[in-house]
Amino acid sequence: MPAGSDATTGESLQPSIETPMHAVLPHRVVVHVHSISTIAWAVQREGKSRLTDLLAGLRWSWIPYVDSGFALALAIRNALAHLPDADVFVLANHGLVIGGPNCDSAMRLLGEVERRVAAAPRCFPDPDLASLRTRARNDGWQLPRDGAVHALGTDPVSRRILSCGFLYPCQAVFFHDPGISPFLVIEGRGVLLARDISRTELAMLTGLANIILRVAPDAPIRYLEESELRRIAAANSTRYRGLPERHVSWEFAPRSDARPTP
Ligand SMILES: [Zn+2]
Repeated sequence: MPAGSDATTGESLQPSIETPMHAVLPHRVVVHVHSISTIAWAVQREGKSRLTDLLAGLRWSWIPYVDSGFALALAIRNALAHLPDADVFVLANHGLVIGGPNCDSAMRLLGEVERRVAAAPRCFPDPDLASLRTRARNDGWQLPRDGAVHALGTDPVSRRILSCGFLYPCQAVFFHDPGISPFLVIEGRGVLLARDISRTELAMLTGLANIILRVAPDAPIRYLEESELRRIAAANSTRYRGLPERHVSWEFAPRSDARPTP
């Protein structure tokens, strides 16, 4: 499929990396979303068995993590060979795919899946807004509007999950480069954002915080492996050329300085 260009911005457009996946699905309408609630289950080693209860009665399939593109398309084709009328596909460490005969039925099914897999976010300690504001003023940062982002700094479970690896490809694409960072995690206090954080980076960060808040503290997590991360980086080095790729900056408050965890 030849690349085209956006009529309003002139920006060059490319077909989605998931075009082969759409090609193997027999449904007239296919919805692919990086659903917060679904990903919170899809990064867990026991995610498939937990979803077996939650999605009981639906025609669904768990797709173990594979690279986006042809590998994912083949995995879905394989799943369809076992369950030809499947119309819900949970992609491990990735997201959700829904198929339907028309937009209404696909959206209804998406709503049903979202309702069933919904998990409440964990409660987390309040951010230390006064000190964050001072720091933002002095050092040129800004505060996030969505309070959930602060959990990455104030919630010990979220900090641990974030610091142990990458949960899904978009996280790795946007926040893997150890050069510069669009956000700063301050232990016990909260999170600050770079003044020039892009809308996309902010959306990615907000989604990440919300996903992590929905993973149970004791859930074994399957992080992306080194070889998978290398292939993600290679596949995206040309695709997202020019996009800022930045990682997490950490700042650990001295113990005496840290706010108590309730
Ligand atoms: Zn995707």
